[in-house]
Amino acid sequence: MKVFTEPDKLQKWAEGRRLAGKKIALVPTMGYLHAGHLSLIAAAKKKGADEIVVSIFVNPIQFGPKEDFARYPRDEKADLAKCRKAGATAVFFPTPENMYLKNHSVFVDEKLLGKTLCGARRPGHFRGVCTVVAKLFNLARPHFAVFGQKDYQQQAIIRRMVRDLNFDVEIVVAPIVREASGLAMSSRNVYLSAADREKALALSRVLFDLQKDIAEEEELDWRPRRTQIVRFLRESGLNVDYVEAVEADTLTPVESSLAKGNVVLLAVYCNGTRLIDNAVM
Ligand code: AMP
Repeated sequence: MKVFTEPDKLQKWAEGRRLAGKKIALVPTMGYLHAGHLSLIAAAKKKGADEIVVSIFVNPIQFGPKEDFARYPRDEKADLAKCRKAGATAVFFPTPENMYLKNHSVFVDEKLLGKTLCGARRPGHFRGVCTVVAKLFNLARPHFAVFGQKDYQQQAIIRRMVRDLNFDVEIVVAPIVREASGLAMSSRNVYLSAADREKALALSRVLFDLQKDIAEEEELDWRPRRTQIVRFLRESGLNVDYVEAVEADTLTPVESSLAKGNVVLLAVYCNGTRLIDNAVM
């Protein structure tokens, strides 16, 4: 497995592999890898990638000034071992200084899908995400890139960026990997105590209940249900950031009737840790 820290070295290597006719997959991550990340590598393998490039970069420009950039969990050694075991053929470990020169002044800013949900609560977040992903596309030269459904709004925005800026990269979206309890895997789960984890189960419980009800009823009245969900999350000891239902592609809010194919997205603070989860109905 190759390990790159210099952007231009990765780019040269990737261009060479492309010219040799190899299919390149990119799996962008912020590291502290868990089974959810490894499922993206597995999806890349299953799709027939010859080269699987995992990028591990805690991207400073997607964090707000009061967010957890400095304390975001990092473990380079364990991540390298996990990548090797999962079948990655290259890992890209850049430094912020290598990715953003002192006078870096060009950013990619999606203007529509990022106005709601996490985009509304985390100003500048998706601008940071789109900018780094555009750079990673230029560096790793992938034929396709794998993202997790866990960050539902992120994959929608990346797909829009690819469409609107004509990136020649196929976007593959892999399902959410959960712990046996139902808790969606996340690097930030390391911040949770045993009691916090118990509280956090309310998220998946809400989503599973909704899926069950939609499977039985086809549709349900969203407004009263939303009120109940907010109350249930609060009673479970969580601070609700948002509870929203949207159309799957456009992220247009569902106002009255929640139907099959809509997506319900939740964001909460659990003892100060921001957790997100979602499910397609
Ligand atoms: P992160 O390291 O949190 O930026 O995530 C990197 C990629 O892994 C993103 O595409 C995430 O959506 C994806 N991911 C994170 N957690 C999970 C999970 N539990 N299941 C599937 N994919 C995930």
